[in-house]
Amino acid sequence: MYHRTQTRPVRVGNLTIGGSNKVIIQSMTTTKTADVQATVAEIHRLEEAGCELVRVTVNNLEAAEAIKEIKRQIHIPLVADIHFDHRLALKAIENGIDKVRINPGNIGKRDRVEAVVKACKERGIPIRIGVNAGSLERHILEKYGYPTAQGMLESALHHIRILEELDFHDIIVSMKASDVPLAIEAYRLAAESFNYPLHLGITESGTLYSGTIKSAAGLGTLLSMGIGNTIRVSLSADPVEEVKVARELLKTFHLISNAPTLVSCPTCGRIDIDLIAIANEVEAYLQNIKAPIKVSVLGCAVNGPGEAREADIGIAGARGEGLLFRKGKVVRKIPEAELVSELKKEIDRMAKRYQET
Ligand code: SF4
Repeated sequence: MYHRTQTRPVRVGNLTIGGSNKVIIQSMTTTKTADVQATVAEIHRLEEAGCELVRVTVNNLEAAEAIKEIKRQIHIPLVADIHFDHRLALKAIENGIDKVRINPGNIGKRDRVEAVVKACKERGIPIRIGVNAGSLERHILEKYGYPTAQGMLESALHHIRILEELDFHDIIVSMKASDVPLAIEAYRLAAESFNYPLHLGITESGTLYSGTIKSAAGLGTLLSMGIGNTIRVSLSADPVEEVKVARELLKTFHLISNAPTLVSCPTCGRIDIDLIAIANEVEAYLQNIKAPIKVSVLGCAVNGPGEAREADIGIAGARGEGLLFRKGKVVRKIPEAELVSELKKEIDRMAKRYQET
């Protein structure tokens, strides 16, 4: 199955989700949306980390009103997360939102759905249908007894049908569950059933540690199956961590073009330098590098040169010093105290060259 490139391209601000476009990284703010200053500050941190699309909750009129000013101060498209209240959707649209997350089947009377769809159509704004295993419609739960992938698909098709009947097709769909096998199955069924772009997420996945593992297992499986056009990692943590995890995941599947990768060894009895501290420092440094450089940090020269051959640049430790490698070839010896700073200089040079080409 390779669903990703066969999806309908859907415009969101200056981005396109779906078709042959790259997988978009998104996150959600944790601030009160009406607090413009705090929300903008968080969005700027997310942008800096590599977030390409950001969602804010629009749970009251103040939040919907704040969108106008937030939009003025940020650089990436903004999504309004709305539950049930079509007036908030209309206000968010009026204030320049780029995408609305709302389930049309939950809005209520037909004229309310029509009003939201009409406003979205007029401004070229897409709608994300968010199916969540934890909030399936009562009739679906009664039919299946508990949340199932089939039930989630039924829910998605129900909401899609409402929009299609109004000749609205700028749709993105998510099929979230906190249970990883359930989410995988639901997304798989969705990919088999329609060609709207899929927003991947394992909802309420947990803390930075356990949530990262669950997200990697679930989203990684789907990405490797060719499913998913945009990705949001949900963690009980600073949302910047969500973006970092999402970038790492996309890198793993070669779905991101401007991110460096780090190869580091697990260390063993051969080691003579403080490799773990060095690897962590280099990893933190690479967070801000926007170039596809492969960096290797290895504990010794026994396996070092061979293992580092595929890397653009790397170091291998020795007693009190290290060897600097480029493409597996030793360039020079460096005292341990200067290893990291010299490696950073080399990384900067490579990143600069990449940006100039
Ligand atoms: Fe051990 Fe050297 Fe391999 Fe690191 S690179 S795990 S120190 S043999």
